[in-house]
Amino acid sequence: MSTTSKWQVSDAAHHLHPFTDHGALAAKGTRVITRAEGIYLYDSDGNKILDGMSGLWCVNLGYGRQELIEAAHKQMQELPYYNSFFQCTTPPAIELAELLSDIAPSHINHVFFTSSGSEANDTVIRLARYYWACQGKPEKKTIISRWNGYHGSTIGGASLGGMKPMHGQGDLPIPGICHINQPYWFGEGYTEDSTAFGVRVAQELEQKILELGEDKVAAFIAEPIQGAGGVIIPPDSYWPEINRICKKYDILVVSDEVICGFGRTGQWFGSDYYGVKADLMPIAKGLSSGYMPIGGVLVSDRVSQALKQSGEDFNHGYTYSGHPTAAAVAVATLKVMHSEDLVTRVRDELTPYYAQAFGSLADHPLVGEVRTTGLLGAIELMQDKASHSFFAEKGAAGNCCRDFSIANGLVMRGVGSTMITCPPLVITKSEIDLLVERARK
Ligand code: PLP
Repeated sequence: MSTTSKWQVSDAAHHLHPFTDHGALAAKGTRVITRAEGIYLYDSDGNKILDGMSGLWCVNLGYGRQELIEAAHKQMQELPYYNSFFQCTTPPAIELAELLSDIAPSHINHVFFTSSGSEANDTVIRLARYYWACQGKPEKKTIISRWNGYHGSTIGGASLGGMKPMHGQGDLPIPGICHINQPYWFGEGYTEDSTAFGVRVAQELEQKILELGEDKVAAFIAEPIQGAGGVIIPPDSYWPEINRICKKYDILVVSDEVICGFGRTGQWFGSDYYGVKADLMPIAKGLSSGYMPIGGVLVSDRVSQALKQSGEDFNHGYTYSGHPTAAAVAVATLKVMHSEDLVTRVRDELTPYYAQAFGSLADHPLVGEVRTTGLLGAIELMQDKASHSFFAEKGAAGNCCRDFSIANGLVMRGVGSTMITCPPLVITKSEIDLLVERARK
């Protein structure tokens, strides 16, 4: 039996994978990724595959970065773990909090650390409700989110998210969370002008606030660009209208930056890209380039002041909040981003190149739309472009395309029949050409 086959048998016998049909996986056999370098993965059969998804939207600096590896090694030798409970902290957690405050918008100067994006979004629920309780408004606790948004897989994160298959398995959402529609212009068939569409969909938030009563609504949460929902890029009119509504009704704005943060759009944060003034910004993934599990919530002065003045404990936190080894790797990640001026490179060099190169796929007979922002891209597969008709089984079309893509040496992700890319921010122009060539196949 080959090593790959042995691993597949053992994996099927003992390992429960996230978001997986285990019967189908056992029949097919899992792919075992054994090493990686730059933007390429190598599997146990020796195949070299271009990682067009940066792992799971996270390995922004590519694989094999010595600066990050050495930071982890050094920190593990000095102090692998200590917590930030009970009036303690560690140097990497202090340094990381300061670095994050430097790159965050000027009204954001604090961070609450977690180990993942899901924990960050659970923290958002706790913080938003606690903030309003501190203001003497404990009834202001409902959080409005969007259908098809993704905010994690814990019960809180999955409730904030608007993924119906997730809600269907576990009686979600939890009370006090409700959803409005997403600004998916292509999905609605371009039936109206995009500016008018963006405003109309944003105004669903106002309708929901009026329906619930503004004294009951704590926050609105959204990804600047919906990632796992299919790279849904809103019309330019959408976010300004959301800003206006949240200000009018005094609702906290939560910009989920787990994918859009750390240069993905060509700005440090997706909220910078859209000019959104967020009160809370959950972060994770690119914060450590995926090398260590770490996340957090960037907290505005308005909310951090309430915590500081409450005169009591905020009863929330995780064993690994501010984990020093994870924080040291995140510090190293941000330093590399600064020293390579990566955000500017994405904005000025790669964004226009990627838009043009990836956009060239629009002439393919199966492609109904190609959209990009920064280094996020999506292709809409269609059965018939002229009549705007989708494949009857969208998921099957996407999965089939994903398998062909891997066989052609490129990791893309299928969300329904939308094919997604999110390549490492260090990708070169010739590697973008290769990505597009493989995608076209
Ligand atoms: N928020 C967004 C926007 C995400 O895309 C994700 C994960 O994909 C999460 C939150 C959850 O992050 P994690 O998987 O680290 O818990």
